[in-house]
Amino acid sequence: MSYARVLCVGLVGVTGHLVEVEADLAQGLPAVTLTGLPDAALNEARDRVRAAVVNSGETWPNRRMTINLLPAALPKQGSGFDLAMAAALLASAGSLPAKQLEGVVVLGELGLDGAVRPVRGVLPMVAAAVRAGITEVIVPLANACEAGVVPGVSVLAVDSLRRLARFARGDAVLLDPPPPEPFAPTPTLDLADVAGQELGRYGLEVAAAGGHHLALFGPPGAGKTMLAERLPSILPELDDAASLEVTALQSIAGVLPPSGRLIRRPPFQAPHHSASTAALIGGGSGLARPGALSLAHRGVLFLDEVAEIAPATLQALRQPLETGRIVLSRVRGTTEFPARVQLVAAANPCPCASPAGDHACTCPPLVRRRYRAKLSGPLLDRIDIRISLHPVRAAQLVATGTPVTPSAEVASRVARARAAAAARWRSSGWLVNAEVPGSVLRRPPWSLPPADTADLRAALDRGLLSARGFDRVMRLAWTIADLDGLDRPGRAEVTEAIQLRMGESHEYAE
Ligand SMILES: [Zn+2]
Repeated sequence: MSYARVLCVGLVGVTGHLVEVEADLAQGLPAVTLTGLPDAALNEARDRVRAAVVNSGETWPNRRMTINLLPAALPKQGSGFDLAMAAALLASAGSLPAKQLEGVVVLGELGLDGAVRPVRGVLPMVAAAVRAGITEVIVPLANACEAGVVPGVSVLAVDSLRRLARFARGDAVLLDPPPPEPFAPTPTLDLADVAGQELGRYGLEVAAAGGHHLALFGPPGAGKTMLAERLPSILPELDDAASLEVTALQSIAGVLPPSGRLIRRPPFQAPHHSASTAALIGGGSGLARPGALSLAHRGVLFLDEVAEIAPATLQALRQPLETGRIVLSRVRGTTEFPARVQLVAAANPCPCASPAGDHACTCPPLVRRRYRAKLSGPLLDRIDIRISLHPVRAAQLVATGTPVTPSAEVASRVARARAAAAARWRSSGWLVNAEVPGSVLRRPPWSLPPADTADLRAALDRGLLSARGFDRVMRLAWTIADLDGLDRPGRAEVTEAIQLRMGESHEYAE
């Protein structure tokens, strides 16, 4: 036998594609020719595979070897092809029976000593294999739990090339995936921990119910972060498709815990304001890594101190927020990651960030104005709800004394409101009110009677609200009506929506 073929999977973005690794031996001077891989990765892979084969006690065929990765047009990144290449090579030389590996997808990176190392993205790779009709996969031991998350496939684990070779010869069995760790629910942050902040809590609930982006303004200590962190606790659990997507993205980023479980809660990401554009939107050499924006896919992206973020970085966020996906230009083609996030932006009222807020501010008026102007950029433009928060004083806490509603209770109201909105827009395909174009709400049958929108039109006439702001208020009014169990918003809901849009001060308006 001088030819063999082993199956593997390559990733482009989050999508896996079946790759055939062919090996062929011919008479001639000893050499290895690798085709179907980008130049840089080619040399590295060749050296790793050779060292791993020799150090596993196998014979390196001293002949002319060609390894080819098909389809050639598919961009291939990362080191997950190593194990399949080594297996194909040994099979083509006749030192390994190819039969055992027929129709099996083999994934794994090789260390120079022949150890099989974990690779990023095993979950979407195995999912792609299953879609292609594969029923058996061999994966690195450290990735076995993760691979086992995918239904409909039997997972075998390897820790070394030596073990794979013995398995192919029928001398040994492969390892079973370790049993999943017992389920330990991660402690989630609960809204019950947030005292006071009635408006903030309400804004959060409306944001969750309608899928609206949210901006929180206030001095340090006003509870912006506390509120933002608790948004996932009132959002619905991810459905099966979303759960698989979110878990796959974490797998590709290499941040998935090795417990072998699907992620069911909406994720939360809070990149620092000094984070690079690449950290936010993704990139890197080899197998591209998703950034914070994609890791927040189907969940919450919290941007604290949004006025401190570099304008170029904000600009880079603009398009993904609009389209729900990120397109990275790579040397060989483009890579795409999903990034459908709910944004929470937070900012201090001014650069001095005095904990007492406006009362103790030492900033000259011009500096304050400039700082706030930065907030009305491309990002804030897309945000429906804007709330000003004030630090809660001890006296207020004692005075209110009312029990605080826990997240579970708010979450069930949110779920009801979301169901009402989804039923209303079913024929158009929108799931939440934030997705509905303003023009739809301005026209029958969804336009409201003039009497109900009088306050809104007055705000528009006085220049307190832009035409775009008008549409945002209308969307909010529908969400408030959904939360209140109404068929459509009336004047009271519109007035509440105006408050959520403009807050008490107009300093951030339009
Ligand atoms: Zn100040």
